Amino acid sequence: MSSTAYRSTRSASADAHSFEEVVLKGLASDGGLFIPSKVPQLPADFINTWKDLSFNELAFNIMRLYIESSEISDAELKELISKSYSTFRHEDVTPIEKIHDKLYLLELFHGPTYAFKDVALQFVGNLFEFFLQRKNANLPEEQKDKLTVVGATSGDTGSAAIYGLRGKKDVSVFILYPTGRISDIQEAQMTTVPDANVHTLSVKGTFDDCQDIVKQIFGDAEFNKKFHIGAVNSINWARILAQQTYYFYSYFQLLKKSGNDATKVRFVVPSGNFGDILAGYYAKEMGLPVDKLIIATNENDILDRFLKSGEYAKGADVKATLSPAMDILISSNFERLLWYLARNQTGDDLQAGATVAQWFADLKTNGSFKVSDAIIADAKKDFDSDRVQDEEISATITETYQKYNKYVLDPHTAVGVKVASDNIARDNGADVTYVSLSTAHPAKFSDAVDKALGGVEGYSFEKEVLPQELKELSSQERRIKLIDQADVEVIKAAIEELLK
Ligand SMILES: *Cc1c(COP(=O)(O)O)cnc(C)c1O
Repeated sequence: MSSTAYRSTRSASADAHSFEEVVLKGLASDGGLFIPSKVPQLPADFINTWKDLSFNELAFNIMRLYIESSEISDAELKELISKSYSTFRHEDVTPIEKIHDKLYLLELFHGPTYAFKDVALQFVGNLFEFFLQRKNANLPEEQKDKLTVVGATSGDTGSAAIYGLRGKKDVSVFILYPTGRISDIQEAQMTTVPDANVHTLSVKGTFDDCQDIVKQIFGDAEFNKKFHIGAVNSINWARILAQQTYYFYSYFQLLKKSGNDATKVRFVVPSGNFGDILAGYYAKEMGLPVDKLIIATNENDILDRFLKSGEYAKGADVKATLSPAMDILISSNFERLLWYLARNQTGDDLQAGATVAQWFADLKTNGSFKVSDAIIADAKKDFDSDRVQDEEISATITETYQKYNKYVLDPHTAVGVKVASDNIARDNGADVTYVSLSTAHPAKFSDAVDKALGGVEGYSFEKEVLPQELKELSSQERRIKLIDQADVEVIKAAIEELLK
């Protein structure tokens, strides 16, 4: 059915990788990211035949186009999908909520950790287990391939990875976080998970110290070989694939709810590493009739600057904003879009790989690279962008609560809503509907939400925002392993000890 082979964004030779290899390796050996070099096309009558499908059925139809059935059978793929989304609290998995006639929110936070990363990581965890179990079937215990996932978190990614991998066979997960520098709710989410394969290490140091240690561990060939170190970072192709479903699902929900199939649909996506919105690009390239994808950044605005100037330039420092999950210097998934943009210029896959490799070599040596006007013009056919400052985030949370039935936005979602509202004002009544992606539950970012709503008459965080499940977490027992030295040898020893 599908004929998708994967290639690296930096390869100047014809290379073809299987889906399994792409998922288990994460990053290509030449430093590039894996992409399907041909984007599959939707069946001609997909709107009629797909519009009434459930979230899981749609996920199946989309993923089937990207994964050979010789690699994962229909029955296996269905089972993986149903297992992954049975952990969501909402029957629609990712429902849409009408704010007003021209603005809908796509709520992506109904998974186990209340953040959008669950949509991908619930699926990735099951995929890892599926591939390992299949490889290890019939092997004696000592020959089994066991994966040790190691990651650093400043809060959100860690908990989504832990909930994706908890209890999975032949996988262990170690998440490092800086002691005292993540929110109480985030620490509670990570350290109350009782599964034996989950380990959190509270490291005396900063997030950068944790990340450096993880990088050193990945660079340690001997340790790597012994424990088969793996990652679940945002560049794994399976995450981009799993995120495509909600663009389709919300598009169909919107047509049904608004009753207006003539409207132009634009998605607004609060962006950091460009993984979320990239899934929308694939949906559009497959044939979903999306008018535009709008990148909404916070003050860490490399993507907005690129689209306006053609220059991809690393800023000096990461700025700590009210939307910390989008605080990045460079956008790791952007390389995938750059490959398609390079390829569109010449139509030549090999040439595109060489061009992308050169851009990233320039980025490494000079801290920037510039693309041609023709490439920017091409990017602007699909994308638009804008940047939002902290004061605007607060004001948007306050205004939305006051104007729209006490709806409480989290600070990341507020970045998207601000950009959508500005676009709606500029449209001047034109028939365009915006779907802005809601990437986290407001209870996860109580400081920013309280700052915006604390002074508003009648507002109560406990009563209106905090879900019972998260309230209960704070009284559960925490397993905290303190590491009082931010040192790679100390961490390696702790991992080795805990794996016994
Ligand atoms: C990760 C994250 C984002 C940014 O998504 P990208 O795929 O990195 O662009 C936005 N909001 C929240 C809450 C996130 O956790």
